[in-house]
Amino acid sequence: MPATSLAEAQVIAPTSREEAVGAFGDGSGVTVLGGGTILMPEMNYGRLRPERVLLLQNAGLSGIARNGGSLTIGAMTTVAELEQAPEPLGTAARNVADHEIRAQATLGGNLCAPSGGATPRGDLQAALIALGAQVKTAGKGGERTEPIEDFVAAPDGRLLLEVEFEEPQRSGYAAAHRPHAHAYTILAVCAAETTAGLRVGLSGAGRNGLRARSVEDALAVGASAEEASQKVLDDAQMQDDALASAWYRQRLLPILVQRALDDLGGGK
Ligand SMILES: Cc1cc2nc3c(=O)[nH]c(=O)nc-3n(C[C@H](O)[C@H](O)[C@H](O)COP(=O)(O)OP(=O)(O)OC[C@H]3O[C@@H](n4cnc5c(N)ncnc54)[C@H](O)[C@@H]3O)c2cc1C
Repeated sequence: MPATSLAEAQVIAPTSREEAVGAFGDGSGVTVLGGGTILMPEMNYGRLRPERVLLLQNAGLSGIARNGGSLTIGAMTTVAELEQAPEPLGTAARNVADHEIRAQATLGGNLCAPSGGATPRGDLQAALIALGAQVKTAGKGGERTEPIEDFVAAPDGRLLLEVEFEEPQRSGYAAAHRPHAHAYTILAVCAAETTAGLRVGLSGAGRNGLRARSVEDALAVGASAEEASQKVLDDAQMQDDALASAWYRQRLLPILVQRALDDLGGGK
């Protein structure tokens, strides 16, 4: 008989951002619940038995705000709400799972999801890395803002509050999927050009989203999209998992990088 450990936990349901930050504190012993698409099955099957659960549904952390040319997106904004976000984020969101999951899943859960082992998670990470997003979090030492690629490399048990990025001038996207509505993306490559330059983000090429700096550097010194795309293997940390082997990903990734760069229009 599976245990429903949410019923056994102390549940905290803040009604404002300040309350949420206060209740989270330094994060010790607190399990944050976003949309629950990853956490609830873990709890329902008794694999996770949290002592204190922080429910963020009413904490005022959802929504998309535009301020001039930049966007701020709250951690509790659903993946469905991101489907019309600036590219390549919109396309990345539309490619997550199916309607039911996207309506429940949140941005925060996507960026903070622990590596699943069996499949890559966090398809929104590549898009936000390409967009040069800054992540605002709370936890030990107070609030801080950092580049998203640093945050997803070491989420460090922090409470994600929001992300902010500049709307890009150009964007590109290429991905490999399995033909099943519930399947995760095998590999996704996002490219975006803002006033800060052209950036490339990868999902599925490591335990978390990665920035393809070698590709960006090659493009900056005049390499063609084809030449630059070969550099991506310097940035990737391929693994075998239930979706694909590292061997397969190594062969596919440079092709997807070139497609994403070509999708930008011009590729340089
Ligand atoms: C059938 C199925 C298909 C899926 N397909 C995809 C896919 O194609 N692509 C993809 O990327 N994902 C996929 N997922 C995984 C998942 O649905 C998404 O990653 C989703 O965005 C997770 O968000 P959530 O709000 O449901 O996370 P939750 O389950 O609520 O939380 C996930 C993790 O993030 C932490 N967390 C949540 N919010 C915060 C916050 N604000 N601050 C700090 N920590 C936080 C939680 O503590 C937990 O560790 C799939 C899941 C299922 C069940």
